[in-house]
Amino acid sequence: MNEFFQIDPALELLAQRVEKEVCPVFASLEATAEYNQLKVIAAFQKNQVSESFFYGSTGYGYGDRGRDALDAIYAQIFGTEDALVRHNFVSGTHTLAAALFGMLRPGDILLSLTGNPYDTMEEVIGLRGEGQGSLKDFGVGYRQVELLPDGMPDLDAIGREAARPEVKVAYIQRSRGYSLRPSFSVELVGRMAQAAKRANPNVIVMVDNCYGEFSEKLEPTQVGADICAGSLIKNPGGGIAQTGGYIAGKRDLVHLCANRLTAPGIGREEGCSLNQSRGMYMGLFFAPTVVCSAIKTAVFAARLFESLGFSCFPKWDEPRTDLIQAVLLGSPEGMTAFCGGIQRGSAVDSFVVPEAWDMPGYGDKVIMAAGTFTAGASVELSADGPLREPYAVWMQGGLTYPSGKIGVLLAAQSMLEKGLAQIK
Ligand SMILES: *Cc1c(COP(=O)(O)O)cnc(C)c1O
Repeated sequence: MNEFFQIDPALELLAQRVEKEVCPVFASLEATAEYNQLKVIAAFQKNQVSESFFYGSTGYGYGDRGRDALDAIYAQIFGTEDALVRHNFVSGTHTLAAALFGMLRPGDILLSLTGNPYDTMEEVIGLRGEGQGSLKDFGVGYRQVELLPDGMPDLDAIGREAARPEVKVAYIQRSRGYSLRPSFSVELVGRMAQAAKRANPNVIVMVDNCYGEFSEKLEPTQVGADICAGSLIKNPGGGIAQTGGYIAGKRDLVHLCANRLTAPGIGREEGCSLNQSRGMYMGLFFAPTVVCSAIKTAVFAARLFESLGFSCFPKWDEPRTDLIQAVLLGSPEGMTAFCGGIQRGSAVDSFVVPEAWDMPGYGDKVIMAAGTFTAGASVELSADGPLREPYAVWMQGGLTYPSGKIGVLLAAQSMLEKGLAQIK
């Protein structure tokens, strides 16, 4: 029996079997982490990072070497001409919105190549909500290419739709978001980019890279995407960055985004780093192994919950391209018990009981389990989902594998105790 947590002995036995079975998957994840760790160190070295870079500037922040070097490091890691890494991006949604508003002009069309966009992007585009200040409000049109019935991108339809001359940005969401469609590998992102550009050589291919960074050896910008963006309280912040986002891409595009984040004429030149640089550097250093821990947690969860008879997306042995593990629990009670268990395993806020609420930016009530050092950081173990059909939770994160594993075990334990799952 476990010394610190009450786990059913039958569940502990099952967990041991599961861990043996997932061993080869873990080995391949560790190989990716090692490659990416060296990639990050090499980028630090090329930019001659020294301790003085970690001290923040104040005021306008002119000539902040630490801030500028971090931009160059991200550009090297993502294989791009330029990058913009700022704590001033308040979230992933804000970062993506800054990039879209930076690049799109009235009369342009934003074309999603991957069906419905992530929930919070609907209000940015103007598909839902009051619409004030949305892309639509500024005269930017929106179209989407639906996914095929199996959830995969429709490369033929992408070619047809991208051919419209008004299509300025072709938008790819790599991770599944709150849906059960597959997350798209870097290789597949490359094929989508190619299909769009063949039809329309002027199109800008942009990738919502949230949750994808460092899960593979290559990033989307290394296979044909022009620009990508993501959040620092997800993968690339390594659980240490306290806030922020990044955009990496072609120089002229990153320039437009910087002008949107601050103001034309100011762009990237202003923006003091306060005391954020050290965490952003250290987080990036840790990111490859933190992402690995999170994906190992996801694989363990998938194998365990598949053994308990629940459908998991992706399946435990499918290739990974992000942190997300969806578990189909089938009922609101199941979601509540699962999230309660995850919360009980946390080092922070383990004593609170998650409840569904009306989160800003989302259309349905959402339940969230997150006992995190950084509020809302989903590279830390967390589980959430909107209370609607098909009653699935999307689980992600785990700064360390042992902490992720106990969270997953307690989620299963909590469901067993309430009679919502049985060990067969
Ligand atoms: C998390 C996420 C976002 C939005 O990021 P926030 O930081 O929650 O605003 C956008 N797209 C995808 C695919 C995400 O996973």
